Amino acid sequence: MKKLVAVLLAGVLALGAFAGCGGEKSSVESIKKSGKLVMTTNAAFPPFEYVSDGDKVVGVDADIAQAIADELGVELQIDNVTFDGALTAISTGKADIAAAGITVTEERKQNMDFSDTYATSVQYVITKKGVTVNNIEDLKGKKMGVQMGTTGDLILTDEINGYQDDDGNNVEGVLQGSGAEVIQYKSALEAALDMNNGNLDAVVIDKLPAENIVAVNDNMTCTELVYADGSSTQEEYAIAVQKGNQELLDVINDVLKKLDEEGKIDEFILEHTGAAKVQ
Ligand code: GLN
Repeated sequence: MKKLVAVLLAGVLALGAFAGCGGEKSSVESIKKSGKLVMTTNAAFPPFEYVSDGDKVVGVDADIAQAIADELGVELQIDNVTFDGALTAISTGKADIAAAGITVTEERKQNMDFSDTYATSVQYVITKKGVTVNNIEDLKGKKMGVQMGTTGDLILTDEINGYQDDDGNNVEGVLQGSGAEVIQYKSALEAALDMNNGNLDAVVIDKLPAENIVAVNDNMTCTELVYADGSSTQEEYAIAVQKGNQELLDVINDVLKKLDEEGKIDEFILEHTGAAKVQ
């Protein structure tokens, strides 16, 4: 009897330690066993994810995730957190997949694995109508709003503080020493509203969410963020999973391939671009 209690206790302790360190492993087997695929996202990024009908998270990423859940034969659960939080939920194993219009970057690859890419984007600048931004030089000395932890945030912060290139050389940022400032918000929409309050000169965010914000705010306009030589920021979106979860990545990549071949991803983008405008 004592032995049984000891064994049980050891089991409970081991379980506790496992859960406590946040290192739970998501696998195709564990997803099927639990009967649900947990997707983490930040539903403030239309048309990829936005809230509809009060509290339902919908969008291109939700549709893709639903197809993945269907393929696995499980329910889809969507956790709506901050963008930063969504990335962390993958590294800590709190979610099986992160689908949040996530741009693949070398830094992020250190903490998570990415599926094949399913959409491309560039950074856009939103301003009040009447303000012209021809290229990034026009942002010198300006106060800019971004969504915390996004590529728009990272790019502007690098251009303000300077950064290291791939060979480890220090590079001076285009906006360095100009007095330009970045202010982080929970969402680009929140930043845009603060621009309306007169607290910002511009907001930098991915193309489609920028166009969506402008579509529902008559006094705003947006344009692509380009460098003085005309070059732009090119980004590709992918779904993130825990590092090493190749089996799940294989399922995701098969689903993405099928959706793409059937023209479904373009269809989702079109449908949600229209629907999100009236939100
Ligand atoms: N594509 C951008 C990034 O990965 C923004 C994503 C988002 O705000 N949901 O940083």
